[in-house]
Amino acid sequence: MNDIATHPLQLFNSLTRQMEAFVSVHAGEARVYTCGPTVYNYPHIGNMRAYVFADLLGRTLSWKGYKLTHVINITDVGHLTDDADQGEDKLEKMAAEKAQSIWDIARHYTDAYWQDIKALNIRQPAHWSIATDYVPAMIDYAKGIADKHCYELDSGLYFDVSSVANYGTLARASTDDGEGRIDAVEGKRNAADFAIWRKTPPGEKRQMEWDSPWGKGAPGWHLECSVMSEALLGLPFDIHTGGIDHREIHHPNEIAQNQAHSCSDHSGAKIWMHNNFLIDRTGKMSKSSGDFLRLQLLIDKGIHPLAYRLMCLQAHYRSELEFTWDNLLAALTRLKRIVIGVERLVEKAGDQSAPVDHPALLQLRDKFDGALSDDLNSSKGLPLLEELLGLKKVAAEQRLALLSEMDSVLGLGLLSIKRSDLRVRPKAATIDAAAIEARLDQRKQAKAEKDFATADAIRDALTAQGVDLMDGDPLRWEWRTDI
Ligand code: AMP
Ligand code: ZN
Repeated sequence: MNDIATHPLQLFNSLTRQMEAFVSVHAGEARVYTCGPTVYNYPHIGNMRAYVFADLLGRTLSWKGYKLTHVINITDVGHLTDDADQGEDKLEKMAAEKAQSIWDIARHYTDAYWQDIKALNIRQPAHWSIATDYVPAMIDYAKGIADKHCYELDSGLYFDVSSVANYGTLARASTDDGEGRIDAVEGKRNAADFAIWRKTPPGEKRQMEWDSPWGKGAPGWHLECSVMSEALLGLPFDIHTGGIDHREIHHPNEIAQNQAHSCSDHSGAKIWMHNNFLIDRTGKMSKSSGDFLRLQLLIDKGIHPLAYRLMCLQAHYRSELEFTWDNLLAALTRLKRIVIGVERLVEKAGDQSAPVDHPALLQLRDKFDGALSDDLNSSKGLPLLEELLGLKKVAAEQRLALLSEMDSVLGLGLLSIKRSDLRVRPKAATIDAAAIEARLDQRKQAKAEKDFATADAIRDALTAQGVDLMDGDPLRWEWRTDI
C-alpha cells in the first residue's frame, strides 16, 4: 500500500460469493495467476475481455503500491473439446484439420493472441507460462498425489473428487450433481472425477505425447494450472482469475488438486475472481462456433482497438456485456473526446507535470480510488477522468500528473495515443485519407460558391465509397467510414 491510494481494496471472492478486503499473503506483494488462452484458434473479443479485466486488476494493485507478480499461462496441450473429459484435444484436432504440426498451430495462435494483448495495451505479465514446458513437472506433481487421490482406468489416471474436502464449493456443486458433468468415462467413481493423465489409446500415436508411470500420454488440462501457479507463485498465492465458465469445472478441479498436493483444505488462492461474458445477440461468444469476432476484424473496419478496451471498462467486469457495433462506436466517440481533451491538456502543461496538491484534484483522486477499490469499478472511474479534463481552472501540470496516474490504472495509453491514431484506415477502403480530404476541400469550395449540386454530388460519390460525412460534428471529425 502507498499513501496515494489509501482506500482498502475490496474484491468479490467467487469462493465465498462475498466482497472481501484484500490482504496480501506476502507483505507489499501481490501474486496473481490468470488462466490463459488455449491456442488452437484466434482469440475472440470475448476472450480478450478476460485479459482486460486481469490487466485492470494488476494495474490497480500496482497503483496501490503492491509489487505485482502476474502469471498468464498458454495452454498448448490438454484442453479437450469438451470440459468433461470427452472429445479430442483441441490442438490435436485443429492440427489434423489444417494438416500442420501442433507446434506450428500453437506458435501461430500464441503470436496472434500476443498481438491482441499489445493492441489492447495489456501489460506484459512477469511470466507467460507455456504448458508444454511444464509436462515433466506435471508428471512429478501427479506422482505426488496419485496414491492418495487418484485411480487408474484404461483411459488414464483420474482424480477422485471425494478424496478432498468440500469438492465443488466454488461452483456450488457437490460431487455428483456438478453442473455440466457427464459421466462419460466408464469406471469413474464420481461423475465429477477428472483426468490427470490421458493415456494414448493402444495402436494410436498422438503428435504430443510423453512417457509417464501411467504409460504414454498427455496431461489433463486442469493439472497445468495447479502446477504452474504453484511453481511460479507458491501456495497460497493471492488471486486467481478467469472467465466465469471456469468457476464451474476448471477451477473447482484446480482447487481439488491444490488441496491434494498441499495436504490441506486451502483452495490455493486467497481470492478467486471471474469476469462475466461478453455476449452478442446469439448468446455467449465462442471460439468453437467457427464464426466469431476477432479484434482484427474491428481494426479492419477502421475502429481503434482501444475503443474496445474502453467499452470493456465502461461495464463492471462481473456484469454481462453485450457487444453491438453501436456500443463500440459510442466507446470510440468517447475515446476521441478524451484524447482531444488530453491533447489540449498536454499543450497547456507543455509535458510538465507537478505534484498533485490542489484540493479539487485530491478529492477527485480520492473518489477514483474509492471507485476502483470497490471491486474495480472502472465504469465509475471513467467519468472522474473526464471531470479532471474539464477542471480548466486547476494548473495543467497538476492535472496532467493525476491524469497519468488514472491512466496507469485504466490503461488507455492516453499520453502516447494521438487523435490521428484513432482514425484507423479500414482494410476495405478504396481511397486514402488524403484523397478524401481533397474531395472535402472541393466540396467546401463548391458550398462557398453556392454550387450545391456539385457539393451533393461529391457527398454522394463519397457515400458510395463507404465514407460518411459528418457535417457539424462537435469533435471536428469531418468524415468517417461506414462499418
Ligand atoms: P479459452 O481460450 O477458451 O481457454 O478462454 C480464454 C479465457 O476467455 C477464459 O478465461 C474464458 O473463461 C474466457 N472467455 C471465454 N469466452 C468468453 C466470453 N464470451 N466473454 C468473456 N470471457 C470469455
Ligand atoms: Zn487454468
